[in-house]
Amino acid sequence: MSGLTLAAGLRDALLPGTCAICAEPLRGPGRGLCGTCWSAVVPDPEGRCPWCGAPMDPSEPHCLACGDAPPPQDGTVVWGSYEGNLRRAILALKHHGHDEVARPLGRRLAARVASAPWPEEPTCVVPVPTHPWHRLRRGWSTAGLLAREVAASLGLPHHGVLRRHGLGRQATRSRARRRSLPARAFSVRTRVPAGPVLLVDDVMATGATLRRASEALRGAGIETVYVAVLAAAS
Ligand SMILES: [Zn+2]
Ligand SMILES: [Zn+2]
Repeated sequence: MSGLTLAAGLRDALLPGTCAICAEPLRGPGRGLCGTCWSAVVPDPEGRCPWCGAPMDPSEPHCLACGDAPPPQDGTVVWGSYEGNLRRAILALKHHGHDEVARPLGRRLAARVASAPWPEEPTCVVPVPTHPWHRLRRGWSTAGLLAREVAASLGLPHHGVLRRHGLGRQATRSRARRRSLPARAFSVRTRVPAGPVLLVDDVMATGATLRRASEALRGAGIETVYVAVLAAAS
């Protein structure tokens, strides 16, 4: 347990919990946000490409880009848009130690996965790894916390089998540079269990990271890769 996580745990044990968004005192066992703020954490209406998760015309079977070049993953679900209270909840989770927010968010994403029209069901959950530099600074991986909760909700194992290489500071890269990630952004560090894999990430920007991570799993012999993202930035 990192110092930050320990500090957050001590704070929650000693002080009455407060909402991570509006700072109102929480009633009952801490769930990170008050009822009013949770009620404004809302999913997207349908209308995203079932292959890559990009916005698309809902009357089409998939987006135009996937028509030109199908993505390496076999399907993608996106729970919501990276805005409003969903964005605030993810930032609380990512930067301020409110990891108690992970469970309710993970359950929401798991419910979306359970209703996905995929021909097979995933048999294990793999988080997209945080860059090591970010993990050192923050003390935990947002995608890792979400993946653990999604896996628990679906009754699946979760495995941190992906390793991330020299991406630099992804958040400060321009959109154009993020699209051009080095080809070998990820590698697989241990044997991946057989069966369809569910790759989990917190925020999708351009989708390039998820494509690279999916390619790495495919390269390790995984035939089916599905992707679940909590929030899409576009
Ligand atoms: Zn609140
Ligand atoms: Zn698409």
